[in-house]
Amino acid sequence: MLRTDYHTHTPLCHHAQGEPEAFVERALQLGLHSYGIADHAPMPPENEPFDDWRMLCSDLQDYYQWINRAKTAAADSNLIILSGLECDWLPGLLPWIKHLRTLHPWDYLIGSVHYLPGNGSVDDSLYADKCLTGSVEEDWSLYWKTVTEMIQSGQFDIVGHIDIVKIWGRVPAGDVTPYYEQALQALQDSKMAVEINTAGYHKRCAEQYPAEPLLRELIARRIPIVINSDAHAPEHLSRGWEQGLALLQHICPNRLVQFKHFTRSGTALQAYGSL
Ligand SMILES: [Zn+2]
Ligand SMILES: [Zn+2]
Repeated sequence: MLRTDYHTHTPLCHHAQGEPEAFVERALQLGLHSYGIADHAPMPPENEPFDDWRMLCSDLQDYYQWINRAKTAAADSNLIILSGLECDWLPGLLPWIKHLRTLHPWDYLIGSVHYLPGNGSVDDSLYADKCLTGSVEEDWSLYWKTVTEMIQSGQFDIVGHIDIVKIWGRVPAGDVTPYYEQALQALQDSKMAVEINTAGYHKRCAEQYPAEPLLRELIARRIPIVINSDAHAPEHLSRGWEQGLALLQHICPNRLVQFKHFTRSGTALQAYGSL
């Protein structure tokens, strides 16, 4: 199986570390096939400063330079460097995302929901021990509604940490399938892949995004799966890949395959699925 990582960050988002050369060195050590850079995208200039954990519009030139440095560092190897963004989705951002698409020949865009519209960011430690809305159920409803809209926007290639709403370990009691049924339907009608985001192992939820029952649903519906680390430092590149792959092999015994999945811009990603 080719080892890839399409969800990684750079210091331009203000909460990651490492030079491009260090990321490339680590990628080469690990024998990665592809190293995809997808830092937190800027918000529209009229909304800046939106928060303190993303690039500003004025950082984009530095970001292109950062990507070029990674490409230069990998020039004498077979390592493929890809460029992307992790874009936040909120209602009203569609024109901005369309604009971002035109700024650079991105290989792919990750669509992520961090904010519940009208509320805060689900992974903000402010909400470690309290809901963002009135209840866990309401948080989950609003979160999955927003994810569904993000998928239906048709702008993105990979769903980022699809069930990050569980990050602090809060999950509604009983069968949670109804919360994401519409998102699954939207995914089937889309051309998106979904990542196994292994950063979840190191959060309070202590499991990958998505949870295993949801991952099984995705595979049954033939949604392409990629394994990403969400690395914010070189030493975290592709961290947990073996565990993610083992989970896929457990779900698809003897039936796991890797195939090329093409993004909107025509770049081939290496994705997993079941025969
Ligand atoms: Zn981040
Ligand atoms: Zn994210």
